[in-house]
Amino acid sequence: MRSWNAPVIPVLPGKGSAPDLFDTATGGRHVTDGGRLYVCGITPYDATHLGHANTYLAFDTLGRVWRDAGVEVVYAQNTTDVDDPLLERATATGVDWRELAASQTDLFRSDMEHLRVSPPDHFVAVTDVIEPIGEAVAKLLADGFAYRVDTPDSTAGDDVYFDVDRAGSETAWHLGLESRLGAGDMLRFFSERGGDPERPGKHNVLDPLLWRSARDGEPSWPSAVGDGRPGWHIECSVIALDHLALPVSVNGGGSDLIFPHHEMSAAHGTALTGETFASHYAHSGMVAYQGEKMSKSLGNLVKVSQLVASGVDARAIRLALLDHHYRSDWEWFDDSLLTAVARLAEWQRWAARAVDGTEVTPLLTELRRHLADDLDTPGAIAAVERAVASGEAPSSIDVEAVDALLGIRVSA
Ligand code: ZN
Repeated sequence: MRSWNAPVIPVLPGKGSAPDLFDTATGGRHVTDGGRLYVCGITPYDATHLGHANTYLAFDTLGRVWRDAGVEVVYAQNTTDVDDPLLERATATGVDWRELAASQTDLFRSDMEHLRVSPPDHFVAVTDVIEPIGEAVAKLLADGFAYRVDTPDSTAGDDVYFDVDRAGSETAWHLGLESRLGAGDMLRFFSERGGDPERPGKHNVLDPLLWRSARDGEPSWPSAVGDGRPGWHIECSVIALDHLALPVSVNGGGSDLIFPHHEMSAAHGTALTGETFASHYAHSGMVAYQGEKMSKSLGNLVKVSQLVASGVDARAIRLALLDHHYRSDWEWFDDSLLTAVARLAEWQRWAARAVDGTEVTPLLTELRRHLADDLDTPGAIAAVERAVASGEAPSSIDVEAVDALLGIRVSA
């Protein structure tokens, strides 16, 4: 599927360091220099709120830091363009689900371009990979990692579930490998985030759906396991396997994907290949608004496209988001933007006084140090603020460093 236009990123003198990045699976930090990045994409029915933008900016920062360190980056991302929430929204609004997905994916592309987020090398719609997903489910069935559950309301056979206990006993994966959660939290998150612990006939209440057999009135496709459509987690496993060598260097997304999504995608990937799925799991925090986590269900979304349409400079949105550490949970206030707009204007006045340079500057060294330190963008922004406040004219390299590493083009 078409990705979006890449921003031009200046090449800086010298070389940065690969980032020392927090890993959810170990609870510690490790230097990560593999460059194979898989970040879970959107379900295109309500793009792109500031919570999404916060996540994609975090991993855009990772890509920028990697490239500056000389790491070759290969980036894959899915779009879940068929799933229950999308179908429910399409039904509720009387829009064809395909049109809803296409229009919202277009809006997402446009938002990412406005925010100067580097596009994935492989931007993959789930509806474009139904066949390989069906083959993967058939392989899991053949290898005993999956089983069918009686599905009387299907027109095409039984649903297929993944057997977490079998995978836990026969592969290097086990429940909790990535999330480090206890059984109670797992069950709660599984219920809240698309799982169906009550489904009769499952071996373990946490077994996730791999394949939903066709139902009347729902989209379905022929596959190696009959007509139907994929479950959520297997899509990311298959897309990652198609485009990135295992282990993926970093599997990233919002912290609400830790369990069950990332844990189960890893389980499927390991059961399919015998390999470790990812070396590193990185998660961005949640953004709240009006006292609650920004979410579709609460209706408290602040959307990038609406801010841009109202005349807000997208660079100010980027600056406002990067002023929070990617792992922290924080609240968006409307005046966050006013601060960022004023800051952007100051940085532009500073950049306008730049003198030509070619050498590594103290500010560039400082930015590299902050960003290699678990992507400390607030520290990097504070370093630019100190340089601006010093009253000294910057080197053109300082201005290019702000562009290349923070993604904010302040030169004319
Ligand atoms: Zn995913």
